[in-house]
Amino acid sequence: MTTTEQQTPATPSHADGEKYVYYFGDGHAEGNAKMKNVLGGKGAGLAEMTNIGVPVPPGFTISTAVCTYFYAHDKTYPAELQSEVAKNLASVEESVGRKFGDRAKPLLVSVRSGARASMPGMMDTILNLGLNDETTQGLAQSSGDERFALDSYRRFIQMYSGVVLEIDREHFEHELFALRDRVGAQTDAAIPAESLRELVATYKKIVREKLGSEFPQDVNDQLWGAIGAVFNSWNNQRAITYRKLNNIPDDWGTAVNVQSMVFGNMGDDCATGVAFTRNPSTGERKFFGEFLPNAQGEDVVAGIRTPMPISELEKTMPAAYAALVDVYKKLEAHYRDMQDIEFTIQSSKLYLLQTRTGKRTGFAAVKIACDMVDEGLITHREAVERVEAGQITQLLAPVFDAQEKSKALQGGRVLGRGLPAGPGAATGMIAFNAENAVRMAKDGPVILVRIETSPEDIAGMHSAAGILTTRGGLTSHAAVVARGMGRPCVVGAGSLRVDYGKGELRSEGHEPLEEGDWLSIDGSTGEVMGGKLATRESEVVQVLLEGTMKAEDSEVFRNFDRLLKWADEIRTLGIRTNGDTPNDARVARLFGAHGIGLCRTEHMFFAEERILKVREMILARNEAGRRKALDELLPFQQSDFEGIFRELAGMPVTIRLLDPPLHEFLPHTEAQISTVARDMNWGFVELRQKVNQLHETNPMLGHRGCRLGITYPEIYEMQVRAIFQAACVVRNEGVDVHPEVMIPLVGTTKELQITADMVRRVAGDVLKERRVKIDYLVGTMIEIPRAALIADKLGDIAQFFSFGTNDLTQMTFGYSRDDAGTFLPDYVNLKILGRDPFESIDQEGVGQLVRIGTERGRSVNANLKVGVCGEHGGDPDSIRFFRSCGLNYVSCSPYRVPVARLAAAQAELEQKAYEG
Ligand code: PEP
Ligand code: MG
Repeated sequence: MTTTEQQTPATPSHADGEKYVYYFGDGHAEGNAKMKNVLGGKGAGLAEMTNIGVPVPPGFTISTAVCTYFYAHDKTYPAELQSEVAKNLASVEESVGRKFGDRAKPLLVSVRSGARASMPGMMDTILNLGLNDETTQGLAQSSGDERFALDSYRRFIQMYSGVVLEIDREHFEHELFALRDRVGAQTDAAIPAESLRELVATYKKIVREKLGSEFPQDVNDQLWGAIGAVFNSWNNQRAITYRKLNNIPDDWGTAVNVQSMVFGNMGDDCATGVAFTRNPSTGERKFFGEFLPNAQGEDVVAGIRTPMPISELEKTMPAAYAALVDVYKKLEAHYRDMQDIEFTIQSSKLYLLQTRTGKRTGFAAVKIACDMVDEGLITHREAVERVEAGQITQLLAPVFDAQEKSKALQGGRVLGRGLPAGPGAATGMIAFNAENAVRMAKDGPVILVRIETSPEDIAGMHSAAGILTTRGGLTSHAAVVARGMGRPCVVGAGSLRVDYGKGELRSEGHEPLEEGDWLSIDGSTGEVMGGKLATRESEVVQVLLEGTMKAEDSEVFRNFDRLLKWADEIRTLGIRTNGDTPNDARVARLFGAHGIGLCRTEHMFFAEERILKVREMILARNEAGRRKALDELLPFQQSDFEGIFRELAGMPVTIRLLDPPLHEFLPHTEAQISTVARDMNWGFVELRQKVNQLHETNPMLGHRGCRLGITYPEIYEMQVRAIFQAACVVRNEGVDVHPEVMIPLVGTTKELQITADMVRRVAGDVLKERRVKIDYLVGTMIEIPRAALIADKLGDIAQFFSFGTNDLTQMTFGYSRDDAGTFLPDYVNLKILGRDPFESIDQEGVGQLVRIGTERGRSVNANLKVGVCGEHGGDPDSIRFFRSCGLNYVSCSPYRVPVARLAAAQAELEQKAYEG
């Protein structure tokens, strides 16, 4: 590296303005932490560490723009790339005093992927590149260790052949194990030099046989082969699956990092390891990591050898440990966040190979955010930004019932113990491979049980309720991925034996378990127990909802509460809940909702004693019969509404008038028809005829919503009466009530006019009769595209809008809500759709209707209150979008209220940043 280059800022090196390669080394880097989009996470981290004086072996990063170019140009490179790489390679050579391909003092490099978002183990890595028959001799001489040189060469051939030449690793591993048996070596490290020489020859023979040509000896061919393989690995199946699960766009591409090698496998004063500056599972503020003495980096990450805890390093290599402690503290203070680092110690000298924001569980995320506020490292606002909104649901997930668990422990059901890698309780049926896990998960919860996991298992891990491995440490693939997914996980349960061949999980003193048998794991403690185990509510639920635990006894609860209160200080978007019972209302209120955004009154009719009355109402021969049934339903409705009003004293309660597709209430089977016929005093045949008459081919587009209220006005009249009688009763108890009556499925102005007039008339009658004054609103759902388009007409009549984005999605796309599952997953796989539009709002299309509806409604009624009550109200990405449309509130199911509070605060911060 020349000094002029070292100090050159990241200026374009081409006439077209594109710079493709960025150098780092000797205390200066062309990139920095902010350049993740260009350099990928790993490249940006290496640059930043170099700049702040952390020891990093020199190297360079080929930008993600090259990956984009590669895929846009038939897997070729920009013309300038070759010379840029050569120039930067020369700088690395100068920095370390070795030359690439040199016989005497060869430079060896690693070639690694690194995308913007971390994708652990999904793409390819090659170590020890630059070794060939000649340079291996040079390495032996310059290191004075022939064994080490040969071992590095055989590793390189193995890795390069697998990744670049696509020769099955099995062939090499088979030879390695056969050799170990022959020479009686327990570990790879015990194989003597002469045997390694023999192994290298065998490996080269395998390549010759499989490839029909020699293993590449030209180091430049090796380098370009590796660079191409890394770019190609962006589109391997496991990387594609990982991106899909984590919503990482396919067009981001990966960067490639080429870095001079340091060796953790040069002897007993060498080691390699990974560490977290705090515990990624619990968030505890304690340096946490693992290392392997005399080993290379991939050995730790792959989870093949169970590593030692970092505390051991303090005993065996105190100086290197002290340097590591200095570095981790420096990195955490610099990034002001928990870091996940990779290091290598070569001849007692420490080098950092990676730093990145550490993936953590929801538990750890909340604790770390709160602790860092207390430590004065970050502000409340940053704490709110730090926790992924969806992760907060982990704090609400069940844990094992304490009594059941202690019974299991005492009853000898503990099969073994491993490391607690992902907190939470999971109980499910054993699946021994990912494919079976995916299949079996359709029938119930599954525990994926593996010796170790690899990136190919990603889909199975996602389908599983919990993950158990018998090998590997807390930074193994299984642990890292499970934490990212929020799955309970136990790793390295070494006393258990998995036999894939026989399909058995064995533990001494117990009957072997087979696939499909029940198993329970506690990801917070590491216990593995046979059978199904009952679970109990989370600490948050126990403190908040059940009152079975005190806040002062639960740090989890206290941090949860603090974080969400900080979120409440930031957000402007209101959070309501979708709830139909006083209990829903209570749960949501305790979780922080400020009212009900959708009470689906038809849900109040499903109870046994009520459904009969509803059937009588629907099937009545005439209006009188209908009114009789309605009169009997009224007290039920009224008392439900009273309960909700009491529970949500002073808060708005949006009650939607009846909106069921009729078929949901009709008797279907012969047995049901005959019961209803008997109860209603009808003939069986007569009733069956009536049911057939009411049958709709397309009930979702049929006689529902306000169509029902217009054709049978007495139904809505009864409901409005029940709402206002309830409101009067509760108001008379001294409780403040704010009913908001909502008309569903409106598509024309007239529909709204007729129903809104009726609501106001009946409400007026009741309030007059009872001589009570109550402020109430009448509004409409916007869930038919036409309603959004004529919102300027509806806004005159309605006092509020609530977007029913479930129906709005159904009708905008023309996808049936009930049937779209048959093709939507294919559509997402084929990238016809980015995400399932019923899960996260389609901003491009359905979102336009939300924007248009809001703008047009407010154009005639500036005070129009606008909310969302479809399922999207609890989805963080959708919440961000709704905030940008200027909505007043979102409404979601009670257990999603905490997620929505956090997401709404994050949306606010983004919106403010956008508006400058
Ligand atoms: C909607 O359509 O988004 C909605 C909330 O109503 P439902 O799901 O009850 O049709
Ligand atoms: Mg609807």
